[in-house]
Amino acid sequence: MAEQTLIEQAESKQSQLMRHFIHLVLTNRLSHAYLFSGLPGCGKRAVAQVVAMRLFCQNPNADGMPCGQCPECGRILAGDNPDVVTVEPDGQRIKVDQVRYIKDEFAKSPVEGSTKVFIIEGAETLTTNAANGLLKFIEEPVANRVIFLLTTNKSMMLATILSRTQIVEFPPLSSKAFAESLRQHQISENQIPLLSGLTNSMDAADELVADDWLAKCQHELSRWFNQLVKHDDMAFVTVQTGLMPLAHDRDHQAVILDAIVLLWQSTLQAKYLSDETQSAFPELQTTMLEMAQALTREQLLQILTAVLDTKKALAGNMNIQSILETLTLRILADMKQHV
Ligand SMILES: [Zn+2]
Repeated sequence: MAEQTLIEQAESKQSQLMRHFIHLVLTNRLSHAYLFSGLPGCGKRAVAQVVAMRLFCQNPNADGMPCGQCPECGRILAGDNPDVVTVEPDGQRIKVDQVRYIKDEFAKSPVEGSTKVFIIEGAETLTTNAANGLLKFIEEPVANRVIFLLTTNKSMMLATILSRTQIVEFPPLSSKAFAESLRQHQISENQIPLLSGLTNSMDAADELVADDWLAKCQHELSRWFNQLVKHDDMAFVTVQTGLMPLAHDRDHQAVILDAIVLLWQSTLQAKYLSDETQSAFPELQTTMLEMAQALTREQLLQILTAVLDTKKALAGNMNIQSILETLTLRILADMKQHV
């Protein structure tokens, strides 16, 4: 899979917002301070950088987009344009000296171009003092300065910052765009359908693939499902030996249940959709078809209802092991009804 350029990233993640901002540049209506708010990896930085590129590009395309090729675009991509100041948290926070650097840069005139662009990632990590320090610059628009504050957690931002910036909510990525960004993120191809069924956040995805957790989960669920399709009571044992070690905290327990929902939804789909829809468990395609054919519609719906009920049970504080064991016994019983 070829690596996406920054413009392609912005286009695939937030096409509408990107074009909106390009339009603001072209019509000279760019405001001086924005707060981009949205999930990690949803394209906030890409959009801000494309805007910066458009402000400096020597050779914009006919549709108004920056070319991405000229020396100016290249310098911005390389982080090498003194008039585009980008800051991201150094560790957990944006540090005091980083704030000083932003203020110093803000006070200086543009070096080469006519505009200075500030892109500040993780703006919610600014200390109250630091945020108040920046407030002065946000409050009193200085000609030819544009500041983009980027945050994944708007609720942690000072009210004074919120009220003085234009807040732009970035919607979560479409599952197609998210799948593509997982691909760009070097997530292995056979985990992408399941991951994009489970989450829309790159941070959450990173957590799930850490220590091979997701691969193990896929493996154990496949084993469990293969046993179920054979009416093998060992499925009950797999809960204990395979799934329980993966269910070490509430978040992971919830993900296991979500994955089981996806598994049975895909099975139901396999019964009715002849075309190859993208299943969250591509390696189980044949087994799912076998399962779908062996069961009646009523049986499948019964099982799916039981599967969906597990999420209520977890929310009601029921123990995960009994939830999974009860479910397994119920599925085995529901399947036998027909045999
Ligand atoms: Zn260019």
